[in-house]
Amino acid sequence: MRHDPNEILCEACGYSIDALPTDAPCPECGRPASESSPSRRTGSPWQQQPGFRTWARTALAFVFWRSDVWDSVRIENDVSRGLLITNVFLAAVIYVVLRTVSFGGHEIYPDLMVSIPLIVVVFLVVFHLSRLEEIGIRFFARRHGWRTTSEVSSAVVGHASIGWLAGVLFMSALIAVVIVIEHVAGYGLFTRGDGVLFLLIAADLLLPMLWFESLVYIGWRRTRYANHPTQTPVAQPTAPPSNRG
Ligand SMILES: [Zn+2]
Repeated sequence: MRHDPNEILCEACGYSIDALPTDAPCPECGRPASESSPSRRTGSPWQQQPGFRTWARTALAFVFWRSDVWDSVRIENDVSRGLLITNVFLAAVIYVVLRTVSFGGHEIYPDLMVSIPLIVVVFLVVFHLSRLEEIGIRFFARRHGWRTTSEVSSAVVGHASIGWLAGVLFMSALIAVVIVIEHVAGYGLFTRGDGVLFLLIAADLLLPMLWFESLVYIGWRRTRYANHPTQTPVAQPTAPPSNRG
């Protein structure tokens, strides 16, 4: 269906507006062609300049399920992949460090010999789940007739990956509250085996994933006909190198 990444589509309805002057409306839905111009996609703060401050601004912009922020996302692979790695790494570190403190105490995970391999394992699992999500949304996009290229799926998953970190932070705060309640009220929620601990652990695994998935869904829908940066005809190789694994 719509697999040519160089074709300019109306970003609202997917109609080809390649030949349309920029001030004309889309013949299908009436949206001005200028609003689908690839030049509108100037990039998220992180895409414009990866760094700590731009990471924080990007995280705050995307984490609360806003859909309009996706209109500025540049459709590309590499910088978004860096964002995915950053978010998943932070989520893995915080998850392992805070969980070993909350659930394990000092005796179970006494040192870095255990924490560092655990962080690596959590990072790899979450990173590959996220990459799997990219394959998944490309698969379902083909069935919908949407143009989710590998660049689109990478940009969507990269920006949605803040959901992993947000879910981990939210659950960490919740667990901290439960621990405080235990101490103040004298309950033994973690040790009594009455299901509270099980529920907490289940929520601890599910909520970060749901947060991530919901952000992916919003971004994926919003970018279903997103236009890729226009190619400059100068010195463009005939086929881009494919080193995706
Ligand atoms: Zn349209």
